[in-house]
Amino acid sequence: MHTSALVLFSGGQDSTTCLAQALSKYQRVETVAFDYGQRHKVELEARLNVLREIKTQFPHWAHKLGEDHLLDLAVLGQVSDCSLTRDVAFKMESSGLPNTFVPGRNLLFLTLAAALAYRRDLQVLVTGVCETDFSGYPDCRDDTMKAMQLALSLGMDKRFLIETPLMWIDKADTWALAHSLGGAPLVDLIVEHTHTCYLGDREHRHAWGYGCGECPACELRARGFGAYAATLPNAPV
Ligand code: ZN
Repeated sequence: MHTSALVLFSGGQDSTTCLAQALSKYQRVETVAFDYGQRHKVELEARLNVLREIKTQFPHWAHKLGEDHLLDLAVLGQVSDCSLTRDVAFKMESSGLPNTFVPGRNLLFLTLAAALAYRRDLQVLVTGVCETDFSGYPDCRDDTMKAMQLALSLGMDKRFLIETPLMWIDKADTWALAHSLGGAPLVDLIVEHTHTCYLGDREHRHAWGYGCGECPACELRARGFGAYAATLPNAPV
């Protein structure tokens, strides 16, 4: 019986939804993020705002929400050369992967998260990776997660479960999942406080939240929110 979880929590829509689900399932939940010279400190601020709002607005979850961990992963900037760690424009590479792809990043994240979970005696690692995303990062695929679960469990001699609640759902369903977990207040919290935009734009407010509205991350979030909103009873026709 699993009772405790460590959520890989970036402060975006996906990981916030995963955090809400973990809080609805487990007795003890901690969060972890990685600072690797992201171009936008706005992401790291967003996660603190989300944690604060969850504690304020969801008292039945607040008491389960334990320590938040921020691990310095500056070394990732030394080994990678991508648009998330350097000031270059987003584009698709000839490999078919976007230049936001940092080889091995998610493998590193999971390994460090497992080491932390080991020390904190947390059983489940929760991550918002998704195969239906446009990006198709190979280190976010279901097979990779299953292989990591086995490797980490064997390598640390501790049974870890890697949970991926968003693996097979699209962005519209992610909004719907948030609604099913925390109703309109959670959807509103995600709109207002989570951050997704690659450009770090917190100036332009849309129905789906803040962002430039044009980068691939904004487009995906906006399209998903539009599809979700259209399913609501009071949706405009
Ligand atoms: Zn954007």
